[in-house]
Amino acid sequence: MRDLLLSAVPPVLGWFRAHRRDLPWRHGRTPYTVLVAELMLQQTRVEAVRERYAEFLLRFPTAEALARASEEEVLKAWEGLGYYSRARNLHAAAKRIAAEGFPSDYAGVRALPGVGDYTAGAVCSIALGLPVPAVDGNVVRVLSRLFADGRVQDAELKREYAALLEEVYPPETGDFAEALMELGATVCLPGGAPLCGQCPWKGLCRAEREGNASSYPVRPEKRERKKVLLNVYVLRFGEEYALRRRGEGLLAGLWEFPNYPAPRDFGETLNTLEAKHVFTHVEWHMTGRLVAARERFPEFVWADSASIAARYAVPSAFKAFLPWIRV
Ligand code: SF4
Repeated sequence: MRDLLLSAVPPVLGWFRAHRRDLPWRHGRTPYTVLVAELMLQQTRVEAVRERYAEFLLRFPTAEALARASEEEVLKAWEGLGYYSRARNLHAAAKRIAAEGFPSDYAGVRALPGVGDYTAGAVCSIALGLPVPAVDGNVVRVLSRLFADGRVQDAELKREYAALLEEVYPPETGDFAEALMELGATVCLPGGAPLCGQCPWKGLCRAEREGNASSYPVRPEKRERKKVLLNVYVLRFGEEYALRRRGEGLLAGLWEFPNYPAPRDFGETLNTLEAKHVFTHVEWHMTGRLVAARERFPEFVWADSASIAARYAVPSAFKAFLPWIRV
């Protein structure tokens, strides 16, 4: 495996230099901007990040600027990207960086809030020039096909691939890390769709030679997502709508429309809508009701639609109901 991987390094580097996508976070990099991009890209599509990254950096161009912002401002700037714990972690990381400077080694980067093995590898190899592999699902897919490796894709396999990559890391650490990610994102696509004809590893890749690339990687059995039924209330009183802040757990600290496992009576129902939102381990099946509230219930915060849009970070799980407050 090591020799095969070693011979695969030059072609993928050459291919990357000729074909890399022009992405906003590949310009004017600093360690801080690399960290921002990597945290945004966790579990989020490149296209969604492409729209939001420049906006976020205009607002918070340095770790110091981000460290000075309030949590409310940071969550608002993150709105729509989902997985808000990343925004909180980035905020906490910026405070540490503003106070102590950007870490200069793997241990320091890995110790930043919200930074796991993959993100630490990406930041170290792209921003600091350190030969630390960044192995995510994309990289596992690409390597498992290169090796025609029929083992189940699990944490152990990731660790083994990381150790193998470490042995063959070229001096161009950032390009190599990004080349593997790019290959997985644009050519060695998941499922039955790898574009082997455009791949720098065509002829080298064992799965391609065997003609069964789509059999790799071998996935572990899926756990069923937990289904949660919720009654969501968009309560209107005059020009204002009710919001409340979520406590601990999923989407903690964000603003939401009041919601409950069982229906409640807040007034006259004007409209209803079924919606579903899928998180990593949970699915919300929501029945939304637009209600003319019979009073300005004091347990909620009330705001008009303009201030909700400007100041309150409402997670995209509730986006199906937002048109009710913007008419
Ligand atoms: S040759 Fe095909 S299967 Fe192999 S790495 Fe390239 S795109 Fe993936």
